[in-house]
Amino acid sequence: MISVVIPIYNEKDSIEPLFSELLPVMNALEVPYEVICVDDGSSDGSSDLLKNFSKSDAKIKHIKFKTNCGQTAAFDAGFRAAKGGIIITLDADLQNDPNDIPKVIEALEHADVACGWRWKRNDPVIKKISSKIANGVRNWLNQEDIKDTGCSLKAFRRSVVERFKLYKGLHRFFPTLAKMEGFRVVEVKVNHRERQFGISKYGVTNRIFRALADAFAIRWMQKRIIRYEFEENIS
Ligand code: UDP
Ligand code: MG
Repeated sequence: MISVVIPIYNEKDSIEPLFSELLPVMNALEVPYEVICVDDGSSDGSSDLLKNFSKSDAKIKHIKFKTNCGQTAAFDAGFRAAKGGIIITLDADLQNDPNDIPKVIEALEHADVACGWRWKRNDPVIKKISSKIANGVRNWLNQEDIKDTGCSLKAFRRSVVERFKLYKGLHRFFPTLAKMEGFRVVEVKVNHRERQFGISKYGVTNRIFRALADAFAIRWMQKRIIRYEFEENIS
């Protein structure tokens, strides 16, 4: 089974078009699937819409937080609810293209995580620049070479997400966290589209400073990681 996990915070106008793009792509795979919509405390009517969709289609599942807890919390809840052996993540705002899902799944043939790389980013200039800087600083502090860690379109083998112990903001470090556990990570070029409805949930400043603090936390974790092999073990 494939589980698609989608964090949703006040995206009411995107929900219907998202399903009308996503469901045909998933149906065409001819593999059982579920779509786990993690409603991160929406207050704009997204919740009622999601409830209706989940009532009319058993494959669509709706989880709702009492309050807005953040995108990492939403991913975490989705991972815990997911039944699939493969887990796909993507944003609800149509910026990720569901037609790229087969591509990231295919990339798991030789990897444990396939990360979308928005090589032609369709965001405001300020966001593109701040994201470039953030990726550069993160890569430097964490000795990484990931081009685009902020792209939500990713595919994970189940064993990867089972190893994650997440904290706020760490969804930006999924590839690094996976590598720290010995998993293979690849990047796959994906489409990126302009946000059509609603507003971005992140400003430039809140993202940059928090992500920098988080990169230091990850650096500490990388240095302190526990690795051991047994010469002898209880038999
Ligand atoms: N999101 C969420 N909780 C939050 C912030 C964002 O679930 O506190 C969701 C949001 O609804 C969207 C995805 O995370 O589906 C990415 O958010 P956004 O599009 O605002 O980020 P950007 O594309 O601007 O980086
Ligand atoms: Mg977006």
